[in-house]
Amino acid sequence: MVRDLVEVLMAVAVGGMLFSAVARLRRGQAHPRLCPGCGRTVSRVYDACPHCGAAV
Ligand SMILES: [Zn+2]
Repeated sequence: MVRDLVEVLMAVAVGGMLFSAVARLRRGQAHPRLCPGCGRTVSRVYDACPHCGAAV
């Protein structure tokens, strides 16, 4: 019984982590910015373009 409870809690914890990671990813890609240096889309999680290093 106790092991079943632990397994359920583990599944909920892993599921919550995956869900929050996906939500963060979707939020970052919802409004992509265009890099002024190279014109590629830059996720909002970055302060500088990961492609060319220009500030966005
Ligand atoms: Zn760039």
